[in-house]
Amino acid sequence: MIFFGHLGFGLQIAKPLFRHDELKKKRAVGFLLLGCVLPDLIDKPLYHGLSWITGKSGAELGLISTTRTFGHTLVFLFLLFVLARWRKSPALLMIAVGTATHLFVDHVGDTIGHAIFGSPFPTQYDEHGISLNIVGLFWPFLGNRFPVFPFEHIMQHFDFFRRPHIAVGEVLGLIFLWKDRVVRQTVRQWIKERLWKRAYSPPRSKSSG
Ligand SMILES: [Zn+2]
Repeated sequence: MIFFGHLGFGLQIAKPLFRHDELKKKRAVGFLLLGCVLPDLIDKPLYHGLSWITGKSGAELGLISTTRTFGHTLVFLFLLFVLARWRKSPALLMIAVGTATHLFVDHVGDTIGHAIFGSPFPTQYDEHGISLNIVGLFWPFLGNRFPVFPFEHIMQHFDFFRRPHIAVGEVLGLIFLWKDRVVRQTVRQWIKERLWKRAYSPPRSKSSG
């Protein structure tokens, strides 16, 4: 999954954990959706930024050898939950749950997709025969390394849209989002409050007195 797949599937996975009014309150669903894509918002710019600056890719970049590094680890997820609990923040809790769905969708989606359609990057293993995807997920406890995805430029990511399981995932994700009542209500409310009222409310007059 790349973007809409994460948003749509993540929402479907997380929704049963919350009541309808919990998701609507203070636009909590927005924070949940942010969490659904947060690992990629951190790790993809990190890799592609470093690659662009240094002109290197994959293993040449050392530890940052892929677009799935720190934001895709259980340590990061754990810290988010700790932070949410410490701050007693419902918004952070939503972000943490969204992030958990991201990791789940990445790993399960890849496992199913690659089993059926094959992988552009064959699974790599460490010296103990453990998949580097798992080593990366449990970083740094199983080793200080991540798998090597030698993307040479960001446009290679867009080539992924041509892979059947990615394309289907993105379309399904978009449909899940579109059909979700809480998302529609929240977006409608946001437009009404932020755009409509701002554009059409009469200018405030100074109170005379
Ligand atoms: Zn990801």
